[in-house]
Amino acid sequence: MDDIDGHEVCRRLKADSLTSAIPIIFVTSQNQEADEVIALGLGAVDFITKPINPVIVRARVRTHLTLKLQGDLLRASALLDGLTGVANRRKFDEDVQTDWRQCLRESAPLSLILIDIDYFKLYNDRYGHQAGDNCLKLVAMALFETLRRPYDKLARYGGEEFACLLPKTKLSGASAMAQRMQTRVSELRVEHLGSNVDQIVTISLGVASMVPTPSVTPELLLKAADQQLYEAKRTGRARVCALAAS
Ligand code: GH3
Ligand code: MG
Ligand code: MG
Repeated sequence: MDDIDGHEVCRRLKADSLTSAIPIIFVTSQNQEADEVIALGLGAVDFITKPINPVIVRARVRTHLTLKLQGDLLRASALLDGLTGVANRRKFDEDVQTDWRQCLRESAPLSLILIDIDYFKLYNDRYGHQAGDNCLKLVAMALFETLRRPYDKLARYGGEEFACLLPKTKLSGASAMAQRMQTRVSELRVEHLGSNVDQIVTISLGVASMVPTPSVTPELLLKAADQQLYEAKRTGRARVCALAAS
């Protein structure tokens, strides 16, 4: 490091979201407390003074890698739904904001599909809560398998409700995706003799799409999709209802 010092390297690594989570240990010849305070203040996790002892360096690196791994696992699991393994509501709430801003910047449409299992209370009543849980897992998997693009997202939105975010997708594409989801879940052929629409588990889907503008919030899109889901339920269930939001 000719032109910059360790502090500056640390500052730049911490400023870049790609490298900011990397634990940084300072190795320096200066055994000065002030230096250490600056380094720690910049986000360094540890400080080793020269001459270094390889055993100590290795042990400290191992400790910080373990901590980093545990933190990563904790952060990841905090955003996953424990039952189905798809993203949870908290992750969805984050993703909506991120995708909304992204589509706003690109003047691209953002689509949302809300999915709700039909007569699921009756399913639990007839087959038991454990079977209900298994059914939720199967439905989640079937929905997840219909996603095609890397930035398409599925989350468990509530008890037996799921939400699918489709950035850069207009209403026609989102409706087609919703149709595929409905077909896919029907193809599971999970028996549901208590259902009033079919003998198998079915879903209702509400689809909405809009190009974000600075004057509105993502809640408008959520409300529109929810209205379409309500419409799908009202007009007979086991169907897709879609409308452009505005
Ligand atoms: P609708 O067709 O109108 O959607 O009827 P529904 O019975 O599916 O709707 P409702 O919202 O009345 O009931 C949802 C049920 O989903 C209630 C609850 O027993 C069940 N449920 C919610 N979360 C879970 C879960 O994690 N596991 C199980 N087994 N059941 C759940
Ligand atoms: Mg529901
Ligand atoms: Mg339901």
